[in-house]
Amino acid sequence: MADMNRNLVVNVLRAETAMSRADLVRATHLSGPTVSAIVTDLVARGLVEEVGQGQSSGGRRPSLLRLKDDANHVVGLKLSGQSISLVMTDLRAEPVYSQVTPLPEGVAAAGPLGRPSRRETAPAVESLCAAVEAAIASSGADRSRILGVGIALAGAVDATSGLCHFCPTFDWHEVQLGQPIAERLGLPVVLENDSNALTAAEQWFGSGHGVDHFVVLVVGAGVGAGIVVNGQLHRGADGAAGEFGHIRLGDDGPQCSCGKTGCVEAWASDRAIVRDLRAAVEAGVPSSLAQAVASGGPTIAEVGAAADSGDELSQKVLARAGEQLGRGAAALIDVVNPRLVIVSGEGVPAGEWRFGAMRRAIARETFGGIVPRIVMHSEPVDGPKWARGAACVVLGELFSTPTKQSLVGAM
Ligand SMILES: [Zn+2]
Repeated sequence: MADMNRNLVVNVLRAETAMSRADLVRATHLSGPTVSAIVTDLVARGLVEEVGQGQSSGGRRPSLLRLKDDANHVVGLKLSGQSISLVMTDLRAEPVYSQVTPLPEGVAAAGPLGRPSRRETAPAVESLCAAVEAAIASSGADRSRILGVGIALAGAVDATSGLCHFCPTFDWHEVQLGQPIAERLGLPVVLENDSNALTAAEQWFGSGHGVDHFVVLVVGAGVGAGIVVNGQLHRGADGAAGEFGHIRLGDDGPQCSCGKTGCVEAWASDRAIVRDLRAAVEAGVPSSLAQAVASGGPTIAEVGAAADSGDELSQKVLARAGEQLGRGAAALIDVVNPRLVIVSGEGVPAGEWRFGAMRRAIARETFGGIVPRIVMHSEPVDGPKWARGAACVVLGELFSTPTKQSLVGAM
């Protein structure tokens, strides 16, 4: 209860520039002595400071309090197959420092089309800790004012225990990641699925801000989603909610990374598009990308550009992938009934040939006329945005009620 009251006070202070103890009593409906005790504790912890005096309503002028949002920091990291993106933010999720570190040879996963091969976590733990230490040293941040570290990665992770159930990038199964990193850094750590981190970013500073029900479709090397219901990120019992990329669209279909066939991801990811385009060219279908195929390509960006320049095969392959993406998204939309659908991920720059087909399939397949009320748009993403999302996950934990907190290594 004490922690819950403390977070209530912090959340009220977060929304205001400065307020008095009496304002806090009115806003929180807590008693005067309770507010005073919490404020004394927050000041002692360096989270709140007194900033001058407000208007008196008779008697002594009250001192004003503010959250020291710029003097306290959180760190967000996105672990991808080739690099670690890191962003340090203040308590309003404003970035104060960022860096991207390539993973050393031997730690990096195989290329985007190759098989992941690493089961060992120690080298990645080492690289993640080194990235945080380097950021602290380079930014000059006060280590004691770093309130937590968020780490986003692909797969199913349990934020509460720090356990990674499955990470396809590195072929990890049931490995403990949060605890060793928290111990090494001496800082609280929260793990998060990367689609969820991106969704937290949309919630904190993107177009999902203030929207109670929305989904983020994350389309790139894989296909996933983040779901916000009643203003809360929905993680599910095992942190595996939102895996709409593994909804099967029928008994037939291409092989998926999960071991099954015919999943949305197996039809509609960037890899699937490149695979299908290569297969068609190798079977003799004419395309302006024949040369790129001969030299091991193309990239998804090249397929998008070729489609824009009139290459019919590229247009067709992108449209079929978009159609299948839309069929999967329609199922998700029917379950969640979102007001907003954001399409994000590395695949977004490949653009309209794919997402136009996706929107048409969504309009055709969703239940009972909800589509006209859904706002749909796409947003590109880069490493720093993923990492800032991971920082937002930490902030979400810090400001949530204690029953929902999942930072590994207590504050
Ligand atoms: Zn699958």
